[in-house]
Amino acid sequence: MARITLDHLAHAYKPDPRGPQDYALKEINHVWDQGGAYALLGPSGCGKTTLLNIISGLVHPTRGRIRFDERDVTELSTEARNIAQVFQFPVVYDTMSVRENLAFPLKNRGVPRDRTAARVEEIAHLLDLTRVLDRKARNLTADMKQKISLGRGLVRPDVAAILFDEPLTVIDPHLKWQLRSTLKEIHRALDITMIYVTHDQTEALTFADKVVVMHDGAVVQTGTPEELFERPAHTFVGHFIGSPGMNILPCRVDGATAYIENEPVSLTRAYRTLPQGQRIELGIRPEFVRLQERGDGLPVRVRRIDDIGRARIARVELAGNALAASVPETFAIDGDEAALAFDPRHVHIYADGHLVAGEPA
Ligand code: ADP
Ligand code: MG
Repeated sequence: MARITLDHLAHAYKPDPRGPQDYALKEINHVWDQGGAYALLGPSGCGKTTLLNIISGLVHPTRGRIRFDERDVTELSTEARNIAQVFQFPVVYDTMSVRENLAFPLKNRGVPRDRTAARVEEIAHLLDLTRVLDRKARNLTADMKQKISLGRGLVRPDVAAILFDEPLTVIDPHLKWQLRSTLKEIHRALDITMIYVTHDQTEALTFADKVVVMHDGAVVQTGTPEELFERPAHTFVGHFIGSPGMNILPCRVDGATAYIENEPVSLTRAYRTLPQGQRIELGIRPEFVRLQERGDGLPVRVRRIDDIGRARIARVELAGNALAASVPETFAIDGDEAALAFDPRHVHIYADGHLVAGEPA
């Protein structure tokens, strides 16, 4: 086990000394605490797999260092780093039994037979593989094979960290729910640093104590699920997390008021120091937008109302901006005109995409 530090990490797959670089990762500085349950969350193509492979040693970074505690491991192989990694698709030996598959990483490291046998039983039990231990892997479904891959990743008790790269991709939806919480329990039981890559926020938020959000080759925020929801450091995080995500409204500041086109929104005292006339963006979650048929508020046009399971979301237009507002099940209007108000304590201010300091009062 170790604390993993990434220091000025950057990676270009095809470094071109003459032209501008096409960086898959740009300047990543990050510390993964020992024993943490981390999710690495971001859309497809943002660099998650690249980052994971750099931590494990499958990819050598163009720039920067990787340290496990104080030890620089940048030049070490995956083997020497003592990292376990589980991939999107199953990696199993078809001709071996499930038991032999699970035992393999231990046997490979010269762990004594009795200890191996006990550990294999323990991991099989955690993953509900006990009853198939003596079956050949080849005869099992893709779901089962991926469970074996998970088991192979989890079996070594002495690894520095276990890395999971979208490990539930091939798993059946109903089993996915179950495995997600199983992995969480396993993290508690094993107390090993785990980094779990996913593009699915639900998966990230259920697994992780800390979520690391990536966007376009950079880490944009690290926080607990609550922090990411309540105080997104970047408009990207606000928009990406939540369903639907945060509303982002371009506006201009004048005194303690922000104007969306000509519609005034009052800001809390904390934001009165903003440069006058500055172009900013307001971030407000649909949960904190109040919509009513008439009365005080900004005039909006309701375009439609979507039922999304337990919630209803009104899609409205405010001075040319599309906006989502959570509405109660009883919400009904005559025509399409409504009044909208924001809870100022939940309005965040962004300049160039970054959260402007100032605690909401
Ligand atoms: P993610 O896992 O978040 O989907 P990746 O790390 O796979 O993202 O990819 C990040 C970027 O690097 C993408 O633009 C992708 O096209 C590029 N990339 C990934 N692997 C390679 C590779 N082997 N060679 C060249 N470019 C790659
Ligand atoms: Mg990937």
